[in-house]
Amino acid sequence: MLGLMQEAPLCVSDLIEHAARQHAGAIITSVRAYGSTVRHGWPDIGRRAAQLANVLLARGVATGERIATLAWNEHRHLETYYGVSGIGAVCHTINPRLFPDQIAFIVKDAGDTHLLADAGFLPLLEGIADRLAATGLRTIVVLAGPAGLPATSLAERFEVVEYERFIAGGADRIAWPRLDERSACSLCYTSGTTGDPKGVLYSHRSTVLHAYAVNMADVFGLSATDVVLPIVPMFHVNAWGLPYATAMVGAGLAMPGPKLDGASVYRLIEEAGVTFAAGVPTVWLGLLRHMRDTGARFTRPPRLVVGGAACPVSLARAFEEELGVRVGHAWGMTETSPVGSFNSPKAEHAGESAEARLARFPRQGRPLYGLQMKAVDGEGREIAQDGKAYGELLIRGPWIASSYFGRSGDPAFLADGWFRTGDVVTIDEQGFFEIVDRAKDVIKSGGEWISSIALENIAVGHPAVAEAAVVGMRHPKWDERPLLFVVPAAGAAPDRETLLGWFAGKVPKWWIPDDVLVVESLPHTATGKLLKTELRRKYADHQVS
Ligand code: AMP
Repeated sequence: MLGLMQEAPLCVSDLIEHAARQHAGAIITSVRAYGSTVRHGWPDIGRRAAQLANVLLARGVATGERIATLAWNEHRHLETYYGVSGIGAVCHTINPRLFPDQIAFIVKDAGDTHLLADAGFLPLLEGIADRLAATGLRTIVVLAGPAGLPATSLAERFEVVEYERFIAGGADRIAWPRLDERSACSLCYTSGTTGDPKGVLYSHRSTVLHAYAVNMADVFGLSATDVVLPIVPMFHVNAWGLPYATAMVGAGLAMPGPKLDGASVYRLIEEAGVTFAAGVPTVWLGLLRHMRDTGARFTRPPRLVVGGAACPVSLARAFEEELGVRVGHAWGMTETSPVGSFNSPKAEHAGESAEARLARFPRQGRPLYGLQMKAVDGEGREIAQDGKAYGELLIRGPWIASSYFGRSGDPAFLADGWFRTGDVVTIDEQGFFEIVDRAKDVIKSGGEWISSIALENIAVGHPAVAEAAVVGMRHPKWDERPLLFVVPAAGAAPDRETLLGWFAGKVPKWWIPDDVLVVESLPHTATGKLLKTELRRKYADHQVS
């Protein structure tokens, strides 16, 4: 027997409608790329999103058509999120930190017809104009400053329009179409440490469910009285879903634009009354440094969430002890919308000391309700939850990708619905996991796994080392053995024996690298991750004994 309840598809247009009707008092502060700060309410965002939507419809933009953005966090980007997805088109956010070639590849792969770009990115687009002209891209809408549309050679190849002009003719009300909740809503490409970037196509349903999930008290715990600062960019995995989660609860937003240095972030937190902020560790390091240097303190310390990369516990400790800020730890991936886990305490931790809580901080946490996780060894057997055994993390649930855009059959998607994250983890007795490596970087030596990250962390603890990388080199007997690369600290000249001796007593003997190469610099991806594939390729012939 079926239940007798109404069926309502989960659509992102309901989020903006709700926020505009119920939460007119919340303020969205935007620091624009060219420096001025503007304020809007959710009703303004709703009206301007409707204008954009009506213009796109009038231009014949069809359901499922991809409309790209290349923009910082500000209100016009937010309007685009809702205006594009609300009519059933797909908001394709492009990461400007990718290499220009990758951007050209992505525009073609996605089949974008329109691109909304910050004026500051026009030189980047001009540099790849030839390649863009060979794609389906027709129109570039420029998010310009007060001086209006800058002169650009792109106008010879594309229709180039200024954003305010573009939306000016559109009515500011719209009856959003009732879409199938499984319809595509937005598209984001992975940063591509191996091969070309791959598209992850979110649906309306996955986006709304993810917003519910991150709003739970044990995750971001947002409410109508919060003011949320997404330092995480709207061009990468929808700024961790914050543009949707805030509309769902009616919170305000503080949009930082391109300036993410410590002084600018501190000023925005104070001026906009930020109560919650989310970002990668480097941003919080910059903020901490600024506050230490200037002696600045928060009038009202916000909650911070860190994620996207491993965060040193010393950073969380400094925020807590020096600045009175609680720091939460989240994990996620492009393929997981992104939030998959959060490190918040359980009943077992009631009454624990601050020290015990900080000791748990490096763990990426436990799965959000709605998701399942497990970790498996090289033979596909589930590992013991003892905090010691290593396995690759698998995840499944309604906001986890089931395939890449336009590419079926990727081996990351298993037949039984699990997605292989590529993260190698341990899971403790209470179900909290901790990343020890990426699956492609973990060193498989004599049937056992060695964490390259653990070895790198030890190496950078040596005062003569500025940066380190450890990769597995092919070995006739052991399969792979670790090779250490170090970039020396300024003025230092570390030698092999000193560096290898540094590991003694810190790791099992068989983990100690077989050799060390001192190099001037290490290769990185566009998003700052170590490019170990390049090291492996370049040093493939290096013999480890
Ligand atoms: P991306 O898809 O570019 O967002 O990258 C996802 C990857 O970033 C994950 O598979 C992890 O390897 C890494 N990552 C994300 N969050 C964390 C975290 N809290 N700690 C360590 N690594 C993380």
